[in-house]
Amino acid sequence: MLNHLQQSRNFSDIRILRALATAGLIGNIVKHNASISGAEVGCQGEVGVACAMASAAANQLFGGSPAQIEYAAEMGLEHHLGMTCDPVCGLVQIPCIERNAYAAARALDANLFSTFTDGIHRVSFDKVVQVMKQTGHDLPSLYKETSEGGLAKDYKQM
Ligand code: SF4
Repeated sequence: MLNHLQQSRNFSDIRILRALATAGLIGNIVKHNASISGAEVGCQGEVGVACAMASAAANQLFGGSPAQIEYAAEMGLEHHLGMTCDPVCGLVQIPCIERNAYAAARALDANLFSTFTDGIHRVSFDKVVQVMKQTGHDLPSLYKETSEGGLAKDYKQM
């Protein structure tokens, strides 16, 4: 996503690095307070958090305020809450590849949505991280990288 933005908008390397630092900050907040492991909390912790990181990075890149950046990150994660991890055949391919691409597109939407606001919103990013952790704890193990449920369960190789 950042590569696409740099190519299409001519952002300098230093601005991309700042956006990456913002993404890293968001990822570390989740890693410290919850988890970024599909085996622990399902795909919400992997693709959901990646979306939050990308949302924050994009918003920072387009000049968002700290409140708008936090809002973009919050939306990126909130709308992946509950997403299960069920990789077909135990490989990080289906649904992972397309799912990441969709999340990148969602991150651009979260950035845009936040840009249209003053950054004030009702559910904080910290709260969504807590909810993600609890939801991941409540998910049955068959939805946490075991490939025993969901898409992985009934897939037949052609
Ligand atoms: S579904 Fe794929 S991308 Fe999502 S947590 Fe599982 S292995 Fe990772």
